[in-house]
Amino acid sequence: MNKELNPFEIAQRQLDTAAEVLKLDPAMHAFLRQPLRELHVTLPVKMDDGTVKVFQGFRVQYNDARGPCKGGIRFHPQETVDTVRALAAWMTWKCAIMDLPLGGAKGGVICNPKEMSRSELERLSRAYIRQVGRILGPHTDVPAPDVYTDAQIMAWMMDEFSVMRGHNVPGMITGKPLCLGGSCGRSDATARGGMYAVRETAKVLGIDLKGKTAAIQGYGNAGMFAHQLGQELLGLKVVAVSDSKGGIYNEQGRDPDAVAAHKGKTGSVVSFPGAKNITNADLLTLDVTVLFPAALENQITAHNAADVKATIQAELANGPTTPEADEILYKNGVFVIPDFLCNGGGVTVSYFEQVQNAYNYYWPIEEVYQKLDEKMTTAFHSMHEIAQAYKVKNRVAAYLVAVSRVAEAVRMRGWV
Ligand code: GLU
Repeated sequence: MNKELNPFEIAQRQLDTAAEVLKLDPAMHAFLRQPLRELHVTLPVKMDDGTVKVFQGFRVQYNDARGPCKGGIRFHPQETVDTVRALAAWMTWKCAIMDLPLGGAKGGVICNPKEMSRSELERLSRAYIRQVGRILGPHTDVPAPDVYTDAQIMAWMMDEFSVMRGHNVPGMITGKPLCLGGSCGRSDATARGGMYAVRETAKVLGIDLKGKTAAIQGYGNAGMFAHQLGQELLGLKVVAVSDSKGGIYNEQGRDPDAVAAHKGKTGSVVSFPGAKNITNADLLTLDVTVLFPAALENQITAHNAADVKATIQAELANGPTTPEADEILYKNGVFVIPDFLCNGGGVTVSYFEQVQNAYNYYWPIEEVYQKLDEKMTTAFHSMHEIAQAYKVKNRVAAYLVAVSRVAEAVRMRGWV
């Protein structure tokens, strides 16, 4: 992998910038640059045709000074341990800026779920838990969905873990179906939290978002709900959306339910009736008010950042922007809502799910929305105030808030 695009090296460089501003103690800096521990597993899985395929999986527990580790599990053909390390670091900063009493972790399996049957995916999910389950639990490390994993996969994982322990353990994982201890509002929480952050941004920038345009890269859990909620909560006109196969554009916007149904039927948003096909590269440089990168890492780089015309870049994906691109966006006055703040709504409602599991008492959806709004709004302004005071990029400001909180917990524990 090109060194400049290695997500873990990017995460470390971002931390280095914050460490310099904070004048972080060198030992603390060295400690926060590395994961606490990681487990690499080899998973033999019986495929439907009777053969056995061997998969590689990881769980990286980055830091648990503030509480049990927390973070999703990704199933992706291009997964690497460095990607998982970066995502685990970002989870640490995400839980800290959202002020959740949790640390950060991430899991991953190198596989292509698009080429696997549901029963093969079930056997892979259970095999992953049989190996990684030994370091998971409600008080140690709690996974959740991420790219190409969903509520059904969480249900299989929770079931496998419960069988291993001999009793029901709903709090070992979040993003579960409602019937198994999931939380109301978890499915669209990432996108909803992002909308609250965009709403606060519009307030500080003095923009009225009603009728303004937006483009969304990625049509997974975050992107799909962003399409719907961008219209519903902010009155945005979503003129372009895309997925891994390409994108579509229509200046009037298109109905999110119809686009989702088209993707359900054909496997992609591409060729949606009444819209023009565009590429993912075209989408990122459209002249829109809000750009939502909601796909994968390294989408906005030194090569295309100068062409981004959006006023606000709301990062629903993890790691979509490289440090070189960050500089260019800042110089050009693009207001970036950095990933680990913008997409922090997902883990926030995961945390609410854990709390409800521990209580064995469940909240109505209005309560989830209200508590999520409070958390997002507070986190946004904690970043914004620091960005103003220190005159630094929003991403640096978010790091300053998050790293100080984690460092304080590490110090108070007497680790460094
Ligand atoms: N995978 C999501 C993220 O990157 C959610 C993590 C969680 O809910 O624990 O934030």
